[in-house]
Amino acid sequence: MSSFTAAPEESRGHRLVDAHGRTIRDMRLSITDRCNFRCTYCIGTGVRFAPKGTLLRTDEFARVARLATELGVQKIRLTGGEPTLHPDLLEIVASIREACDASVALITNGSLLTPATLAALRAAGLARITISLDTLRPERFSSITRSLSGPAAVLSAIEHSIAAGLGPVKVNAVLLRGVNDDEAADLADLARRLAIEVRFIEYMPLDSSGAWNASLWVSAAETRQAISRTHPLREVAPDDPSSTARVFEFADGAPGRVGFIAPVSSPFCGACSRIRITADGMVRPCLFSHDEFSLRELLRGGGTDMELREFLCDAAWNKQAGHGITSAGFRQPLRVMSAIGG
Ligand code: SAM
Ligand code: SF4
Repeated sequence: MSSFTAAPEESRGHRLVDAHGRTIRDMRLSITDRCNFRCTYCIGTGVRFAPKGTLLRTDEFARVARLATELGVQKIRLTGGEPTLHPDLLEIVASIREACDASVALITNGSLLTPATLAALRAAGLARITISLDTLRPERFSSITRSLSGPAAVLSAIEHSIAAGLGPVKVNAVLLRGVNDDEAADLADLARRLAIEVRFIEYMPLDSSGAWNASLWVSAAETRQAISRTHPLREVAPDDPSSTARVFEFADGAPGRVGFIAPVSSPFCGACSRIRITADGMVRPCLFSHDEFSLRELLRGGGTDMELREFLCDAAWNKQAGHGITSAGFRQPLRVMSAIGG
């Protein structure tokens, strides 16, 4: 565990702010580091998972969520790994909703979602869902995700999520050059057909095999141009002012939108309002942090609510100014995306 500078007395234990003037309002809470997929840009085949006993329990997730909302967090996104693999997902959602009034969202690969699960999640208090889908082609799906699932199952989950009222439903796609970068317009068509937002995320150096390199990376600008050739786009203000995406509607008035999240070509660190808690209870102030702070130790060591709030404030205070992906001295963090929570 890393050591850190304590937050100033006036905010410590009261609100989550960092030393660079940012206020934290969003929490990404990873509930598992396990996944039924092995997406090439995320988990390697030889990945090692955290021992089960180190993973937080439902009551611990709910307590962390409550404390974070007491410190100003308004939105909590459950992530992983694959959160739908967690046997107590419904209970986790319900316990968090019971413990605090934050809006609870879920990001998932969608492969395990049935209409019944979606209805139960909605009833438990889930507000919104984001589903990841990188390709509409079954063979590519197999080679990207190295799973037995396919795009049909994910498309069905997207359609059932819309029907279940878990909107606005968003779809996330990562394009890799020479792998699926020719599908930008097809994925934009999905946005039009289902009247949803499809968001293209630039590939980041967070994969466990360390395979990230500039030749695989596709910029948001290039993806936008590729879509514009088929469907001219018009930029609009995002629904959420703290959104990291640039959002565009279709100039011909078709429903749906596309968004571009460009952490590599246009870092949005200055406006970042996030903090992350890993499934094993480490606070990561930034996706690219090399420092992480063990909240689990304090949670399991009898820490009081005030001690835990102070700890969260200290961790947030130590959030780095930016990720520095494009700087010469950039080092990829040891934890990979699946173990941090995207
Ligand atoms: N398993 C769930 C899923 O795939 O949606 C939730 C966890 S996953 C880590 C969250 C998001 O991170 C997904 O949209 C995924 O595409 C994205 N992601 C994973 N590795 C990435 C990388 N190296 N660069 C950019 N996005 C990545
Ligand atoms: Fe699993 Fe999501 Fe990572 Fe794919 S992106 S391997 S589905 S955690």
